[in-house]
Amino acid sequence: MSLDHTSKQRILTQILGDKSLADYLIRNKCVDDYVITRLVEIFGVQGIVSLRNFGKGYSRRYKIILEGESLSTVYFYTFQGKHGEYIIFPFSGYCGCFSKFPLNITRRYPCYHLISFSLDLAVDSLVDYSYEIDNLETLIINLFYDSLAKEK
Ligand SMILES: [Zn+2]
Repeated sequence: MSLDHTSKQRILTQILGDKSLADYLIRNKCVDDYVITRLVEIFGVQGIVSLRNFGKGYSRRYKIILEGESLSTVYFYTFQGKHGEYIIFPFSGYCGCFSKFPLNITRRYPCYHLISFSLDLAVDSLVDYSYEIDNLETLIINLFYDSLAKEK
């Protein structure tokens, strides 16, 4: 399941802080000269780093189907950064790297992981992983071995 238009709009507006840029990205589904110029205007060097890191398969969407008495499905998102795969809560604009750089939270300044993630989200280039499991232990073991396999 991909996120609907309204959800994408909320996420991108929150991360980029610019609703018209968010709308433009979602409508055109591409990163063109206008987008590049705006990102550099808004984020400076951070914008350049973000542009370098999107479209490379670093933005990931995990679909977890937990089989049991009732079937439940959970989605979560991550971004593979230089030093680790960080969990991302797109609706609240939180990235796991904030635990290392907590000033980003108080400054409400998005890290490049979040900006690259929002670009991947806009152009539909999140990489999907799906797990069907019947207990959480299996999930954790699977995630652990898969993360070892895809280390850069
Ligand atoms: Zn981050």
